[in-house]
Amino acid sequence: MRSHLLNDTTAERYRSSVTEGVERVAARLATTPRPSTGLTAAELARRVEAVDLDAPLHDTIAALDELDELYLRDAIPFHHPRHLARLNCPVVIPAVLAEAVVSAVSSSLGTRDQSAGGTLIERRLIDWTCERLGLGPAADGVFTGGGAQSHLHALLLAREETKEQDPARLRVFVSEAGHVGVQQAARLLGLGEDAVVVIPTDRNKRMQTVALARELERCRRDDRSPMAVVATAGTADFGSIDPLPEIAELCARYRTWLHVDAAYGCGLLASRRNRHLLDGIERADSVTVDYDKSFFQPVSSSAVLVRDRVRGRLPDQAGKSPGTTRRLDALKLWMTLRVMGADAIGDLFDEVCDTATKGWRMLAADPRFDVVAEPQLSTLVFRYIPTAICAPFAIDRANLYARKALFASGDAVVAGAKVGDRQYLRFTLLNPETTTADITAVLDLIAGHAERYLGGETLDRAC
Ligand SMILES: *Cc1c(COP(=O)(O)O)cnc(C)c1O
Repeated sequence: MRSHLLNDTTAERYRSSVTEGVERVAARLATTPRPSTGLTAAELARRVEAVDLDAPLHDTIAALDELDELYLRDAIPFHHPRHLARLNCPVVIPAVLAEAVVSAVSSSLGTRDQSAGGTLIERRLIDWTCERLGLGPAADGVFTGGGAQSHLHALLLAREETKEQDPARLRVFVSEAGHVGVQQAARLLGLGEDAVVVIPTDRNKRMQTVALARELERCRRDDRSPMAVVATAGTADFGSIDPLPEIAELCARYRTWLHVDAAYGCGLLASRRNRHLLDGIERADSVTVDYDKSFFQPVSSSAVLVRDRVRGRLPDQAGKSPGTTRRLDALKLWMTLRVMGADAIGDLFDEVCDTATKGWRMLAADPRFDVVAEPQLSTLVFRYIPTAICAPFAIDRANLYARKALFASGDAVVAGAKVGDRQYLRFTLLNPETTTADITAVLDLIAGHAERYLGGETLDRAC
């Protein structure tokens, strides 16, 4: 079994094994006509359960055949132009190549002596990102396992920054469209039950700064401690960007840590046309970026950046993050920048944002649909509205039905969304291959399914 160890004597087995795996993925790419196979998790669970893990196949080809059945065939093809449901981008080839290198070399970024080259590569990318953010000469950061982990890390630094002794008195402010990771982080940090103060959003799903000012004032009046304001640059549900300059102003006035969640919006850092949408981010104390959301990187690739390495107490790369052994995830972004360059990434992200704007115009002009906010990034939230007068719950059900019917047909995958109490649908556009023609076609399919549903409902007097 030593022949499976990767070393000087097994280079040929390594080459042929990995090539065989790459061939399988390439074959799947070539034969994925639909964005979903409609297979249920229950069916898949039966197949995975049936595998006897104590009876190895002793054969790479057989194991790959099995994997094809269990995973590859039904894995969600994020590269499909009609997969519109999730904040998962299609990935670029230089980054996928880097993944193969990362696993084979298997550096651990614990300390510099474990991987000098890897540590220096990560450092350069942190500096590059801080510079694009405009965080100033003392900025620093570290790659993490994901956006929620980056939030936790940033809020930990914010907590250390306050002089408050009683964690129950600390308050964190985030908009109602902010990420659940903020609540999670507050819990993990041992803050009180009502630590997170939710600020309402405006019509375009951006934090209302008037409401934030009111809550910060109330916090002061009640003798509570404002620990951090989390502004979102690209909400997961709407792609909306909070008014960063006004929020930064309030944070300065109330001496509060400003964390910007740019997990989704960070792609704008590479954009030549739309970088201005992030104006004000340079005043953040900390920032979360998810390169695996809008830099076309494979999961996972995320970082937390901090304005002030002294204040943020980040001594060296090793002590910066919880956990000692870290993967060289940074290599994916490195290869992407060295092969394609940042402008190419920014252009791809601009393209998906342009498609979203065109999609919004189409939806706004189409009497069959109600569309929520004009997109700042690449998300569209909308719903089908029948011409006949219908009970609100019937419209909700028609939209839910349309979503399920689309998935079952394998024609397209769209997400559901709640706006207030009402059921909406969502397109998250992250694929430059998705065209306005795709959007038109999917909207027609949605209208068709919803109408068919309501036609049936009429018989039940729902309308
Ligand atoms: C995805 C996302 C996160 C969380 O990132 P994970 O990598 O899933 O932990 C946080 N905020 C926003 C706005 C996101 O879109």
